[in-house]
Amino acid sequence: MTGTSQFTLSATLCGGALHRPGDPGYDDARRAWNVAVDLQPAAVGYPSSVAELAEAVYAAGVAGLRIAVQGTGHAAGALEDLSDALLIRTSGMRRIDVDARRAVVRVQAGVQWGDVVEAAAVHGLTVLHGSSPDVGVVGYSLGGGLGWYARALGLQAHQIIAATVVSSSGDILQVDEHAHAELLWALRGGGGNFAIVAELEFRAYRFTTAYAGMFAWDWSHADEVVRRWVSWTSDAPDAVTTSLRLLQLPPIPEIPEPFRGRKLVAIDGAVLAQDPEAERILAPLRELRPEIDTFTRTPSDQLVRLHMDPEGPTPCVIDSGLLTGLPEEAVDAFLAAAGPESPSVVMIAELRQLGGVLARGSETPSALPGFAAPFALLTVSVAPTPEIGAALKEQCRQIITAMAPWDGGQYLNFAEFTVDPADGFPAEHWGRLRALRLAWDPDEVLIASHRIPVARPHWLR
Ligand SMILES: Cc1cc2nc3c(=O)[nH]c(=O)nc-3n(C[C@H](O)[C@H](O)[C@H](O)COP(=O)(O)OP(=O)(O)OC[C@H]3O[C@@H](n4cnc5c(N)ncnc54)[C@H](O)[C@@H]3O)c2cc1C
Repeated sequence: MTGTSQFTLSATLCGGALHRPGDPGYDDARRAWNVAVDLQPAAVGYPSSVAELAEAVYAAGVAGLRIAVQGTGHAAGALEDLSDALLIRTSGMRRIDVDARRAVVRVQAGVQWGDVVEAAAVHGLTVLHGSSPDVGVVGYSLGGGLGWYARALGLQAHQIIAATVVSSSGDILQVDEHAHAELLWALRGGGGNFAIVAELEFRAYRFTTAYAGMFAWDWSHADEVVRRWVSWTSDAPDAVTTSLRLLQLPPIPEIPEPFRGRKLVAIDGAVLAQDPEAERILAPLRELRPEIDTFTRTPSDQLVRLHMDPEGPTPCVIDSGLLTGLPEEAVDAFLAAAGPESPSVVMIAELRQLGGVLARGSETPSALPGFAAPFALLTVSVAPTPEIGAALKEQCRQIITAMAPWDGGQYLNFAEFTVDPADGFPAEHWGRLRALRLAWDPDEVLIASHRIPVARPHWLR
C-alpha cells in the first residue's frame, strides 16, 4: 500500500470490514459485478453507515490513498488503475425510505433497483429504474439513468432532488436546490467525480401499471423488423420507449424457454397510455406478426425484469455509442455487422430508442439534460474466459466501428471502458463540469468511472 507511513487504515474505520492484498477476504471483497474486470485496489472497505463512510474517506486521505466508490461494480470496466486507492464498496448501506405523501424515495448508497421498485410499489409508486434489478441506484442515477419511461419522463438523474454527500476531504454535507445547488446540478448526470453520495433522494411517480412487454421474431425476419422499427420510431409519441435487440442466446439453463439457444430479433418496452391508445401506437410493429407477443397491461414493478438482463456477478464485455440517426445505409451497416448474414457471435446488439423528452432536454437543471442523438447502440456478450472475452470485445468493437459514420457521442452509463468523457455531455457543459471538479475535488482524490479532469489555469496546463 502506498503512502501509509503516517497512518494505517484501520478496520474500525470501515465497519470492521477492511481487506488488503494478501488478506483471505481480499479477492472476494474486490470482485465487481462484472467479474471479467480484475480490480487491484490498495484496500477495500465496506462501511455500513454514513458516518463510517465519512471516516473511511478521512482515513484514506490521511493514508495518502485516492478513493473509488462502487455500489455493485457494474461499471468496473470504466475505472482507472486502483493500485493507490481505497475502494469503498457501499453494498452494506441498503436502507430505503419511501415518503408516499410526497412521492419521494430516499436510498442509501448501496441500494439496488430491484429493492426500490418493490418498496415503491407497496405505496402505489413507480420509480425510473433501468433494465436490470441489480444495478445500483446511485451509480445509475449519477450517470443519467435511461429506463422504460425515459421518452415521457426523462432520465432518472432529473428526478434527483437532494443528497447527503461525503466530500473528498471527508465532510458530510446536505445538498439540495438551496444548499450547494451547483453540486446538485453536477450529480444529475455528471457521475461520481465530485463527491461521494451517501444517500440520494429522488421523485417517484403515482402510477402502478404500464402497457409493456416484448415482441420477438426469429432473426431471419431481422431485415423487415429492424427497418419497420426504425421507420416507426420517427413519429412514435413520447409515451412509448422501446429497445430493439438482435439476440444470439446460448443454450444454457439460465435462459428460459422459449428464448434458450435461439437467434431472435426482439422489441421490448413500455407505453404510458390507456390500452386502446397503446395498442394503436404499437400496431405497426404487431402487424409483423411476432412469434412472441407479451405486450399487455403490466404491473410496473415487473418492468425491472422485462429485459431479462443477467442477475448476479457476470463476466461480460460491453461496447456502445450514440447514433446521429438510422438512415437506410445505417440500417444496412447494422445488419451487415450484427445480423443473420454477419460473422458476429455477439450475444446482444441493441438499439435503444431516445428522442421525446430526451431530445428536447429536461427542464430540471442538470449536467446531462438529454441526448441530441435519437438512438443509443449497445453491444454485450458474456465472456466466460479472458481469451473468449478478448475475441468478443473485438467483435463488439467491429459493430460499433461499422456504425462510426453515424457516431453521435457517448452515453457514459453505457460506456464500460475508458472513452473521452467530453463526448458524454453537451459541449457548453464541459467547462462548468471541470470547474466544479476543481471546486469539489481539486486534487482529484476521487476515481470515478469516466474522469472529468479539474479545470486548471491555462499557464498550469
Ligand atoms: C446488465 C446491465 C444493465 C444496465 N442497464 C442500464 C439501463 O437500463 N439504463 C442505464 O442508464 N444504464 C444501464 N446500465 C449501466 C449502468 O447504469 C452503469 O453501469 C452504472 O454506472 C451502474 O451503477 P452501479 O452503481 O451499479 O455500478 P458501480 O460500478 O458500482 O458504480 C459505477 C460508478 O458510479 C459511481 N458511483 C457509484 N456509487 C457511488 C457513490 N456512492 N458516490 C459517488 N459515486 C458513485 C462511481 O464513479 C462508480 O465507478 C446497465 C449496466 C449493466 C451492466
